[in-house]
Amino acid sequence: MTANLPFETLKTLVKEGTIDTVLVCLVDMQGRLMGKRFHASNFVEHSWQETHCCDYLLATDLEMATPDGFASTSWESGYGDYVMRPDLTTLRLAPWLPGTAMVLCDVLDHHHHAAVSHSPRSILKSQIERLGARNTVANMATELEFFLFEKTCDQLRRKSFRKLKPISGYNEDYHILQTSKEEIIMRPLRNHLVAAGIEVENSKGEAETGQEELNIRYADALTCADNHTIAKHAAKEIAWQQGFSASFLAKWHQDKVGSASHVHQSLWSDSGESLFRDSVDRYGMSTTMRQYVAGLLKYASDITCFLAPYVNSYKRFCEGSFAPTKIAWSVDNRTAGFRLCGDGSAIRIECRIGGADLNPYLAQAALIAAGLAGIEEELELAPPTSGNIYADTEARDIPRNLRDASEALNGSAMLRSAFGDEVVEHYVRAARWELEEFDRVVTDYELMRGFERA
Ligand code: ADP
Repeated sequence: MTANLPFETLKTLVKEGTIDTVLVCLVDMQGRLMGKRFHASNFVEHSWQETHCCDYLLATDLEMATPDGFASTSWESGYGDYVMRPDLTTLRLAPWLPGTAMVLCDVLDHHHHAAVSHSPRSILKSQIERLGARNTVANMATELEFFLFEKTCDQLRRKSFRKLKPISGYNEDYHILQTSKEEIIMRPLRNHLVAAGIEVENSKGEAETGQEELNIRYADALTCADNHTIAKHAAKEIAWQQGFSASFLAKWHQDKVGSASHVHQSLWSDSGESLFRDSVDRYGMSTTMRQYVAGLLKYASDITCFLAPYVNSYKRFCEGSFAPTKIAWSVDNRTAGFRLCGDGSAIRIECRIGGADLNPYLAQAALIAAGLAGIEEELELAPPTSGNIYADTEARDIPRNLRDASEALNGSAMLRSAFGDEVVEHYVRAARWELEEFDRVVTDYELMRGFERA
């Protein structure tokens, strides 16, 4: 993509005092922005070339713990540095923060300046390069669903996240009236993102109390992942600025619908023709698309860990909730894991497995790897499934929990070949750490159920 904010323009804005701060960010394993706030004058003179960070940033969890078992870094290796190299094509204004611009970085080895292979941006870039070798471009869109709550996260944390009150009192799916009441957050979110060069299509109410969805126009996979990450970050910051909170937890309450991040995918030639379209096919699908979708189906269990990375992610997969439970494809049917959408050159496959908690770089890289494997193996696509797929006893289940998904990832010859053993083992360790941490915690559920009666 071209920079929303050319470097020369930034220099002028800094000189005239309009911009005084530049956020220099990497994307971590959880899909969060981590980095430093530079004084803009330092950034334009020196740090635009590179800065440094501790290498534990790509070997930690949501709590910033330092788990053992990662080959890339440890207490034994002394937790050294990575180079953060700003990708100036991502330079943009961050208009929801006063006087601020931002840039995303590639993460490089400190000594040799080689890309760090388990960095999410680098993993996605490698799969994009594999497509590039076939003169192919992936266009993707990741929907962002999330809940808005009364009070900021800091206020809620002080109350241990109890008695959470969603911003609305009823299911607000497509509701204009209720979502008008949420414009205090959603209007600045849409407008600031557009001003930051992110093509927001719309926002809409979703099918639960306090649930919103933000849609961004599809783009090449790397731009899509960058946009998703910045939009998610901006939603949290703008909600906080207005005294509310935005949560992308996949399932915040067992009686509420969860939040998804559906991923729309299509392949194009590098001269801009859809490689998924075939006007004579019954469903409008080309052979390439059929093989790609067959790859998604064959390898759905292998890649689920990248679509549902936490223990909590699996609580979303409930029958009758619009979140899938089965590995099946269908024509415009929201009960399947994969849904055929659009027609003509808009034809695309939507993966409905991913939760709002996914890391878009890892999710898209895994989806591309699975689809490419389908093309390379020239897989046959079975006929679509129809009706209520929750009740389909023939279709395979999506892994039921993180333990099963992490074992499927560990055993995936496809992903080991596409990503490399080092990358797969890094993310298997991350998943196992999530399980170890969860397994040692005594939950509220156990206390309430057993305190007196066990
Ligand atoms: P729905 O409401 O049925 O989920 P939308 O019409 O809102 O579908 O589209 C969902 C997303 O799909 C949008 O973000 C859009 O930009 C994206 N999209 C449209 N065409 C393509 C395509 N060819 N490839 C990938 N994504 C696409």
